[in-house]
Amino acid sequence: MATPVLPLIRSTLFAQYPHVRLAQSTRQGEHSDAPFGFNLGYGLGDDDLRVTGNIARFAATVQLEAEDLAFMKQVHGDTIREISEAGIADDTDALITRQPGVGLTVRTADCVPVMLYSPTAGVIAAVHAGWRGSAERITRKAAERLLTEYDADPETLIAFIGAAAAVCCYEVGDEVAVLFPERWIQKNNEGKTFLDLQGVNRAQLLEAGLTAEHIDVSNNCTIHDHHIFHSYRRDGDTSGRMLTTLVLREEGV
Ligand SMILES: [Zn+2]
Repeated sequence: MATPVLPLIRSTLFAQYPHVRLAQSTRQGEHSDAPFGFNLGYGLGDDDLRVTGNIARFAATVQLEAEDLAFMKQVHGDTIREISEAGIADDTDALITRQPGVGLTVRTADCVPVMLYSPTAGVIAAVHAGWRGSAERITRKAAERLLTEYDADPETLIAFIGAAAAVCCYEVGDEVAVLFPERWIQKNNEGKTFLDLQGVNRAQLLEAGLTAEHIDVSNNCTIHDHHIFHSYRRDGDTSGRMLTTLVLREEGV
C-alpha cells in the first residue's frame, strides 16, 4: 500500500536548486486528529513514541533518516553555531553547516524559520527568529556570517522565510513594538498593535545584501490558518510544533 503524501510547505525557489532539499511540516499528517496534531516537538504532553515516528516520517520527505537531523536547543538569543554532525546543539538559535546529509532544523509554532543556501559556497544555515532574536538581528547576522566567513556571494545567496505568525494576527505589546522600525508595526482601529515579523526578517536579509528575487516568503499565517498550522499563540499548552529542514544533498542521493 502506498504511503499517503505528507502535507508540507515547500519553496518553489529552493526547488530550482538540485543540491538542496527543503520542507516545513504542518499540523496535518498521521494522528492529525489527536490533540497535538502532526506534532514534531517533545515534552509537550504528546506521546514520545508518536513524536519519534512523526519526525522520522518528516525526515523521509527530504530523503533523510531521523538521526540525520540537527536540532537546536532554542533560547531566543543570537548565537550562531557551525556544526558538522547531526544531533542536538546546545543553546543556539542558528546553525550553519557545509556537511552534506546533515538536515538543519528549526522548531516553531509562530516564530519565523529562516533557511539560507549559498550555491557558490556550498553552505546552508537555519535560523529561529522569534521577536527577541529578530530584535537582536539574528537573521542578518547569520546571512553576514555566510558572506564573511564562508565566502558566500550575496548576489546568489537564497533564502526561505517559512510560515509564521503574520501581521494580520501577531499582536504585540508596546514594549515589543518599540524594538522595531515603525514600518513593521500596524495598528487596527481598536488600538491593537501588530508586528510584521516576516517583513522584519526579509528586510534583514536585504540589508545583508541578498536580492529581493532570492528571498521566498511563505504567505501563510500560523495563527489564523488553523487547519494547517500549529500556533502557540492560538492554542497555548495544546499547541504542537512544526519543523523546517534544509539539507545539502550527498553526491548521488
Ligand atoms: Zn493571520
